[in-house]
Amino acid sequence: MDDLTLLFQRAADVAARHRSGLPVTPVRPEADAATLRLAVDTVLREAPTPASEVLEELVTAFAPGLVATPGPRFFGFVIGGAMPAASAADMVAVGWDQCAFNGALSPAAAVAEEVAGGWLKTLLGLPPGASVGFVTGAQGANTVCLATARQHVLAEAGWDVGRDGLRGAPMVRVVAGAERHATIDRALRLLGFGTAVVEEVAADANGALDVADLAEVLDRGEQGPTIVCLQAGNVNTGACDDLRRACALARQHGAWVHVDGAFGLWAAASPTRAHLVDGIDLADSWSCDGHKWLNVPYDCGFAICAHPQVHAAALSYTAAYLTGQGGPTPAMGDLVPESSRRARGFAVWAALRELGRDGVADLVDRCCGLAQRFAEGLEVGGATVVNDVVLNQVLVSFGSDARTDQVIDGVQRDGTCWLGGTTWRGRRLMRVSVSNWSTTEADVDRSVAAILRVAAASQS
Ligand SMILES: *Cc1c(COP(=O)(O)O)cnc(C)c1O
Repeated sequence: MDDLTLLFQRAADVAARHRSGLPVTPVRPEADAATLRLAVDTVLREAPTPASEVLEELVTAFAPGLVATPGPRFFGFVIGGAMPAASAADMVAVGWDQCAFNGALSPAAAVAEEVAGGWLKTLLGLPPGASVGFVTGAQGANTVCLATARQHVLAEAGWDVGRDGLRGAPMVRVVAGAERHATIDRALRLLGFGTAVVEEVAADANGALDVADLAEVLDRGEQGPTIVCLQAGNVNTGACDDLRRACALARQHGAWVHVDGAFGLWAAASPTRAHLVDGIDLADSWSCDGHKWLNVPYDCGFAICAHPQVHAAALSYTAAYLTGQGGPTPAMGDLVPESSRRARGFAVWAALRELGRDGVADLVDRCCGLAQRFAEGLEVGGATVVNDVVLNQVLVSFGSDARTDQVIDGVQRDGTCWLGGTTWRGRRLMRVSVSNWSTTEADVDRSVAAILRVAAASQS
């Protein structure tokens, strides 16, 4: 075999061994960053190093600092674990090394994004004519979608923001829920709106938008260009806004509706959970992640827009002749902020092919069922679940803030599973997110037992 084949085979072998070990290895890393820093060779060498040696050095140096985030007992943040076919597809994509700028540079990357984007729209119940930009994640998607919203509402007011910027532009109202994700605020900063522009809508008991308050907020201000940001999947509680009623209200005010559905949008793909995002198709733009609940490798997200021409007007190169060569318009490069870009379509295509429609629905249902099991197990053990577990997120208290933080810390050191803390409504809580395709009932039971063991020990 030639050197390249051996090298790639070795890389695949390292990756496969690591993944296969995840169900049994501790979730916490062997070495923290400080330890790793001391161990890693920091000297920039003068001479080249053969590729095979580089690979071995890399693995030896960095493997101790890996966290088992793709494993079945990582429940921190909202983290998926890449599925087998999607991981293999991404490896092949690295081998193919395509630039997903336009159809001329890679017909393969272009058509993979078209097909995978079409499947996504079907699964999520979004308009078939919507445009799909393949971005880095929901942060990227929120930024793209809000840039598109800004373009549209200002164009309606007779202002070309692409040419003239925001100075002297009509005031744009941005209405968003009190429990919106922090990436909405960052997008508003990047887009020159600033965060002070946000007119906040109160949240209901489980962290979804209070629709009556939305009506009041919309009525209160001066009518004009308006963007309403809704959410499917509160990052703490999993709650989804009442999209149907909220969209209807926003429409009455001529607003653009954006839905941040980084993980919650996937409820649409499950017949038993789709009611949570009823009315989803009524919005103008949607953010969704591939690397969270769809379990596609990092990084991968989708900026989806019901108005492809506006999407392209906001994002495309001004030198329009560069894009759209040989493909449909708008071309994929017209829908994202990047110029050169890796080909994310292959892994998404593979994930959806591997799962099929039933598999996606089952993935969503299974994670929701396991979240419920988590909640029940912890409550039986004396902990308090503070949210209504509607999706895959569980918030848990062990009493005081200090005690809850102590339990979280103990669980992280124990290594059976990994959970993080959050502050929700002024209270420190343990946050459980079940988003991984490989998590089983046994994983949940083992994790619940470990958490309760740590909690019992911390009481004495
Ligand atoms: C995770 C998340 C984001 C940010 O997604 P990234 O993929 O990390 O960029 C945005 N909104 C919500 C609701 C999220 O859960």
